[in-house]
Amino acid sequence: MDFAPAAKGSLIKIMTGVARRVGLLHYHEEIFGYQADPAASAAFQLELGEFYKPLCTFMAPEFLITLGEQFKRMGKENPYDAVLPGGTPLSSRLRQELRSLYKKPRGFPNIIGAYESGLSTECLFSAEKGLDLFHDSEDLAVFEVVKPGTGQRAAFGERGELVVTNFFNHIAPFIRFGMEDVFENSFTTESCPYCGRTLKTWLKPISGRLKDIFNVKGKELMPWDVEVIIGDIPDTTLIYQLILDSWDMERLELKVETVRKLPDLQYQREIKATLESRLEIPVDVEVVSAGTVPMAPGGYKVIKVVDKRPKKTSL
Ligand SMILES: [Zn+2]
Repeated sequence: MDFAPAAKGSLIKIMTGVARRVGLLHYHEEIFGYQADPAASAAFQLELGEFYKPLCTFMAPEFLITLGEQFKRMGKENPYDAVLPGGTPLSSRLRQELRSLYKKPRGFPNIIGAYESGLSTECLFSAEKGLDLFHDSEDLAVFEVVKPGTGQRAAFGERGELVVTNFFNHIAPFIRFGMEDVFENSFTTESCPYCGRTLKTWLKPISGRLKDIFNVKGKELMPWDVEVIIGDIPDTTLIYQLILDSWDMERLELKVETVRKLPDLQYQREIKATLESRLEIPVDVEVVSAGTVPMAPGGYKVIKVVDKRPKKTSL
């Protein structure tokens, strides 16, 4: 846990990944004698917290925000010394929201990785400066960015698929295993100017899923491109949903959540204008109330993309 602001020996509660989450719910039922419902409730988290006393938790950022708001409404202090947001990229607005809801952690290092891949973790020292540098755990895995379908490394600054070679998986080796995630090749081997680590560093580790790339009037975009703009719009909850219905759409259709009282047509027009001018594509936006966009089955990630496009095997 060198990267995370948690003490050695701290108990960590992991709420990402269906298998881990189901395991946690199972233990909850065994110990407390009833099924937790809903799992994302602050009451459930507090109950677990009082029993196990975990000092650190690892969850998707949207889930952490929902939970933090519930703690606030209940007048309870969040029970964690350290909070690790993972599973999806963390925008600067999400980080600000986390900072306002969780007072105890000294930082919120975002984590990239999957069960197959090992981890790359945000440098807390760079995050304090408003930058998002990530360090690879090179003793555990090697990350590369390649052109999809070719295995050829993408040039510096190019987007491509993340492939991983994993050194510690005891079940099966993963050698240049395609993660189906899109990243920009922004690796540097220079030592980190903020913490001094000499591990391989990512300068721009913001990603999307390969399957979520979409085209509007010939322009290739990722959900992240939309998310950063939504993060700049006041009174959004940062939760949104893109509706993709063709491989080359004439306009982008999406829902954006707000905390404002609806309907508010002027606000809707402002959001549409902001998205259209920054993305340089036509946009149809529906502004919806907070809590309207559904969570994925398992309830630990929001459904950010509804993909109605005909099936396609490769890009
Ligand atoms: Zn660093």
